[in-house]
Amino acid sequence: MATTHICPECGAEHAGDLTCHDDFYQLLYWEAEDPPLGVVHHLMVLCYHLQHPSLYAPEGLANAKGLLVDFLDRGLTPEQVRAKNSPLVDSGKRTFKITATADSRGAYSQPIRWTLTAADVVRAGKDRYVEIVNAWAQSVHASLRASGELPAV
Ligand SMILES: [Zn+2]
Repeated sequence: MATTHICPECGAEHAGDLTCHDDFYQLLYWEAEDPPLGVVHHLMVLCYHLQHPSLYAPEGLANAKGLLVDFLDRGLTPEQVRAKNSPLVDSGKRTFKITATADSRGAYSQPIRWTLTAADVVRAGKDRYVEIVNAWAQSVHASLRASGELPAV
């Protein structure tokens, strides 16, 4: 009998040894296989990481929340966000770490109630990928906004 387990970060349920990381790679695989799906790549990567905040350093998590606000509240494109941030990034002047280290990991001040996860995007299937990733981004935004985790616009 297959056992299931719950992801401690996003709450998705998985069978056997599968994890959210496997779902993340499935989504990347679909994008590689079908390049037009890459139109939501930036949202997919951002949502996956925002729902697994321990992958980030604390400053990286704060930066990611700002990106979500840039994309969803300000309606900026990935190119516009890159242009806005490039003076910092290109000159190596970024003063914070993006990814977690053993003793420094991102976390939310309280557990977040997520309504869609990477597992749901996989279940919805490749044909609905762009639609569901957009819905996923909206849901992550709504959950974080409701928890007071997003900066004011
Ligand atoms: Zn998860």
